[in-house]
Amino acid sequence: MQVIGVIGAGQMGAGITQAAAQHGYCVLLSDLDIERAEAAKATISADLRRLDERGKLEDVSVQDIEGRITPVAGYDAFREASLVIEAATEREAIKVSIFRQVAPLLSDLAILASNTSSIPITRLAAHSSDPSRFIGLHFFNPVPVMGLVEIIPGMTTSEGTVESVVRFAKTLRKQPILSQDEPGFIVNRILLPMINEAAFVLGQGTASTPDIDKACVLGLNHPMGPLRLADFIGLDTCLEIMRVLQEATGDPKYRPAPILIKFVGAGWLGQKVGRGFYDYSGSVPTRSI
Ligand code: NAD
Repeated sequence: MQVIGVIGAGQMGAGITQAAAQHGYCVLLSDLDIERAEAAKATISADLRRLDERGKLEDVSVQDIEGRITPVAGYDAFREASLVIEAATEREAIKVSIFRQVAPLLSDLAILASNTSSIPITRLAAHSSDPSRFIGLHFFNPVPVMGLVEIIPGMTTSEGTVESVVRFAKTLRKQPILSQDEPGFIVNRILLPMINEAAFVLGQGTASTPDIDKACVLGLNHPMGPLRLADFIGLDTCLEIMRVLQEATGDPKYRPAPILIKFVGAGWLGQKVGRGFYDYSGSVPTRSI
């Protein structure tokens, strides 16, 4: 059975782990410490039990899927992985330090992928042992549910690496699309400026949080408003993506909305911490500011 490694056991790392384990892969899951990886496995188990109760797991038991997920400390176990997906916090320095540690341990055939939302793949690849086997593999949240994967080859990525990750994405029943290594790739280049603009609209007092979301749900037929979606993505991640877009293009249209900077500074990072544009402790919308 094919072994993959996942680094970062937050929303995305846990989602990638779950999706891969549901489709037969053995997954080694790591984070800053093993306790975080174990906590993520417990969250995945709870989700799997909910899916099972609703009859959504096809011909596979919760125990079998759980048995394929191994929380690990450090990266030694990653030597047996054929694919390692990094899904740690959206900060270039964090990702670079991870690649420097893990890349020398990997087998000569293993592929190292980053789930980064916006950081240039070519730049990240330069910190791996073999940039031809480095690629962007961008999943969407929640990973077990969302059908799309963006595949982003860097300047140095080989065709063989692209073909391997396309095959991998298809085994997870995702639809892969290819993007050039441009800031924000495809989806976030389009989505994040909209979320940022919604934050400007809120910050300027044009409308309240629920009304901005209602405007997009009922007026644009979006399934979810941009502020709610930002909470699900994580406001820290949204801010980092805007900063990458701004830095990479030098275009002032990508400057982050002051209210986004303020909320992240307050630790209001969205649903994952219980507070963002909305308050998830009691589902009461925050007052408009
Ligand atoms: P998150 O905050 O939920 O999780 C990040 C995890 O990385 C945390 O568990 C943290 O402890 C861990 N981490 C931090 N430093 C680490 C290190 N040095 N070594 C190992 N683990 C470390 O964030 P997330 O939403 O899961 O995002 C992770 C990545 O996926 C980011 O690059 C983000 O841009 C990208 N992404 C996010 C979304 C989304 O909707 N949230 C969608 C696609 C891609």
